[in-house]
Amino acid sequence: MDGDVQVPLRTSGFTRRCALIAAGFASPYVAGECWPLASASSDIQQKPRKVGLDEPLADESTTLAIQTCLDARSDALMRGDRQAFVATIDQRNPTWRRIQGDVFDLSSRGGWGPTATYSPVQLQDKPLGYVKAFLEVSPSRGVAPAERTTWVFSRQADGTVLHAEPTNDELGMRQTTSIGTVVLSHYNWDADIVDRVAAVAQTAWTRVSSIIELPKMIRPIVSLNPTYAAHSGLRGFSTWAAYLPGSRDTVLLRSLESFGAGPVQITETEDSRLLIPLTHELTHLATDCVLSIVKIPHWMSEGLAEYVADNFRTREFSSAVASNRQWSLDKASEIIEWGSDISRGYTANDISLAYAHASHGTRYFVERFGITRFWELAREFASSRRWAESFLTVTTVSWSDFGADWFRWSKGIFA
Ligand SMILES: [Zn+2]
Repeated sequence: MDGDVQVPLRTSGFTRRCALIAAGFASPYVAGECWPLASASSDIQQKPRKVGLDEPLADESTTLAIQTCLDARSDALMRGDRQAFVATIDQRNPTWRRIQGDVFDLSSRGGWGPTATYSPVQLQDKPLGYVKAFLEVSPSRGVAPAERTTWVFSRQADGTVLHAEPTNDELGMRQTTSIGTVVLSHYNWDADIVDRVAAVAQTAWTRVSSIIELPKMIRPIVSLNPTYAAHSGLRGFSTWAAYLPGSRDTVLLRSLESFGAGPVQITETEDSRLLIPLTHELTHLATDCVLSIVKIPHWMSEGLAEYVADNFRTREFSSAVASNRQWSLDKASEIIEWGSDISRGYTANDISLAYAHASHGTRYFVERFGITRFWELAREFASSRRWAESFLTVTTVSWSDFGADWFRWSKGIFA
């Protein structure tokens, strides 16, 4: 839905591990919007992938070809040479071509790590001549790697490789795999990561189920998408995970080991970073099963998703409160609704701060009235469509008084 979790983008000269939760494409330069809770709050403690130690590179010529392609790509980005950049991209997949065109444009504006360099440390053969390459990413040449990422390359007849994603035809039919409380909808391409995603999804779903009382037994489906063209709901350049209102059973997710998943810090696992966005989107799914999510104010639906995911963006919110820039929850809802729609001119910082307001507003409401009253309010408003009356009926407090109390509470928790 609007409020998809979006993949981090690079900042100039270095990269940030930020997860934008915003609608549509937004500027990547989001101060204080990083994603520390993904590992800090995670109870998934998998070790980072060991690279280059017990699985030596089996194919030196492929490694060399990939390094050559990566160097040509980095050089092209640094020089702003579109033609040279395009020459490193497999052209058979139109969606992939478009996405990479966006990468070049963003890089030209200083946004996609234009000085970053990449080195393969492990390869994995994939069907149809593709190679999955696990890369270390340095913010600039000669600097120690700070991040890891996983890209796919297609072998060419002349021994070179091109940066690629498989086509839909090559991916073939989807299959479903049930693991514990969740179902994975995936391609055979992703068979090697299904267990890892299922483990995170089960942790996320357990958290969601412990806070949201579901009307019936639900086994959520996590749809894994290894390419940008694999699902129309994930075609956005930077959308990482999404719940589409009304589906009531499916969360869309980029495959952990794909270009779309973006890089992780060198000491971080893809799995741990996945927990917050997956919990956020599964909360939307659960909410929609209780009550049509489109009938709930944005601050409540997004606030609950962030509340359950334990992703409060406290630093941003406390900064706004300290400088008397706190908004009303109505204002937060408006910004979330319009997102990066160009007619409104909200920035990525605004959008992220609106989510911070929503999560803290939800927290305050739940601490004051309880989660049961939260749902009573949602139901009452869904039925009456009259907000002020519904709020007063359910809480016996006026909406304006609640807003004033919430401002005072916000000041108090950061005092
Ligand atoms: Zn959301």
